[in-house]
Amino acid sequence: MITIAIDGYSSSGKSTMAKQLAKEIGYVYVDSGAMYRATTLFAIRNGMTDEASKEVDRDALVRNLPHINISFSLQPDGTQHTLLNGEDVESEIRGMFVSSWVSPVAVIPEVRHYLVGLQQQYGKEKGIVMDGRDIGTTVFPDAEMKVFVDASPEVRAKRRFDELAAKGVAADYEEVLANIKERDHIDTTRKESPLRKADDAFVLDNDRMTREQQMDVLLNLYKKIITRG
Ligand code: C5P
Repeated sequence: MITIAIDGYSSSGKSTMAKQLAKEIGYVYVDSGAMYRATTLFAIRNGMTDEASKEVDRDALVRNLPHINISFSLQPDGTQHTLLNGEDVESEIRGMFVSSWVSPVAVIPEVRHYLVGLQQQYGKEKGIVMDGRDIGTTVFPDAEMKVFVDASPEVRAKRRFDELAAKGVAADYEEVLANIKERDHIDTTRKESPLRKADDAFVLDNDRMTREQQMDVLLNLYKKIITRG
């Protein structure tokens, strides 16, 4: 068994791909973005985000990190839900409000150290597919398979918009696009493990690819790596 790191921009489709790949090959799937989102929800609920100044109360959040317990639970339909201190917060963490606060929370170095530590624990036994922003560069720099997923902001915004609409969440395309661009900016320019392609990552530009085509590429890459030993 190997370790598979899938990184890329917001709404590039990497989670869907990572999930499907894990299922096909019988690996564990971990959504690292959900961990940043659950931490963000904790901060919002505990009054650590200030709408007026758009500031996160870093000190309070860092002090409270030991009280943030994140886990995943497998649902009867095969999907995975994120739990924050035992409570199912899966739908809440996907909304626009959490999305608007997650990147400012994810720039805090102590938050990153805490979550990266948890992620490395999950991956100790290998046989894992993890997706995020810094998996191939920071969390698992020795991963045998690294993929960097790329797609234009407009295509990603359209996908996110359709996803929200399918869930019955009212959203505005321009607002979704602005949020994606803003997160791209914060994620790529932050000091602590910014989003960037690992030198040894395979680039998958999926602007014009169907899900099936993407899976074919990933499965072929996986098989090549496994047989190479
Ligand atoms: O993948 P997703 O869009 O759910 O991630 C939400 C946010 O969490 C990202 O915009 C990014 O700010 C942060 N994140 C991160 N490092 C990761 C995964 C997510 O900084 N490994």
